[in-house]
Amino acid sequence: MTRSIQGIHHVTAISGPAQENVDFYTKTLKQRLVKKTVNFDDPGTYHLYYGDHTGSPGTILTFFPFADAGPGRAGPGMASAYSYAVARGGFDALMEKLALDAVDFDGPVERFGQRVITLRDPDGAPVELIETDRDGAEALDGFHSVTLWEADIAPTARLLTDVFGYEEVGHEVVDGTERLRLKTPGEARGTVIDVMRSDAASIGRSGAGTIHHVAFRAADDADQLEWREAVAGAGHSVTPVIDRQYFNAIYFREPGGVLFEIATDPPGFAVDEDVDHLGEALKLPEKYEAHRDRIEAILPPLKVA
Ligand code: ZN
Repeated sequence: MTRSIQGIHHVTAISGPAQENVDFYTKTLKQRLVKKTVNFDDPGTYHLYYGDHTGSPGTILTFFPFADAGPGRAGPGMASAYSYAVARGGFDALMEKLALDAVDFDGPVERFGQRVITLRDPDGAPVELIETDRDGAEALDGFHSVTLWEADIAPTARLLTDVFGYEEVGHEVVDGTERLRLKTPGEARGTVIDVMRSDAASIGRSGAGTIHHVAFRAADDADQLEWREAVAGAGHSVTPVIDRQYFNAIYFREPGGVLFEIATDPPGFAVDEDVDHLGEALKLPEKYEAHRDRIEAILPPLKVA
């Protein structure tokens, strides 16, 4: 029997100027900035992490902000949207609040019987809020799902079902957009992936407002190695384990072209600062500490309310 992956660990996207990004995700969407660090492959650029209070897996959205990033556009072979879950009891109140704060959104529309509204972040990235059947208030409750836009749904769906243990739970076609809904068992956050195909001609272009990669969860290092073997065994070229300070990561491209990562739950964001002060100081991995002065001089100052 196929094991099942636990769902989404984090989503990483590209943005324009960092301050607008911080303001939108912390003020409009009330996410917590849980880590302020640099792109480990390009330390002159921030890497910002948003999530719930502790940055739990399934709530983490991260950005590489480039002040001069050209605008990007999602297309086939790219992840095209991330969706936050909203409790059933809080959805109407949330829409009212957004309207009162003069935050524009599209919808609600219905998708698989659930109401969905779509906001645009400062770079035009679609941020979907989906009404779930959980009880609770209007606060966002981590991810509901991620949408993968594919030229051909089948090969990606096969990887998700045969290797990752997802199950098909829905299929619908609306206005020339076909959507296959897959779910991994369990009640964790971010257990849904939509694989989408569109009749509209479009060529994606990486840039501000687009998703860079989607990361799935591994319980620990041993679990990650098992997933690594399963992915390699299915014929995918997968990287060695890379230390990302807050988790260990492996990467591979799914058949449609989206960059997938598998990230370990531990050690998490409290590994280098106190939970009460997450995101306040610029945290650097050991190898960049010696260059802190230069890095801080390059990075634009950030104000977190
Ligand atoms: Zn990642």
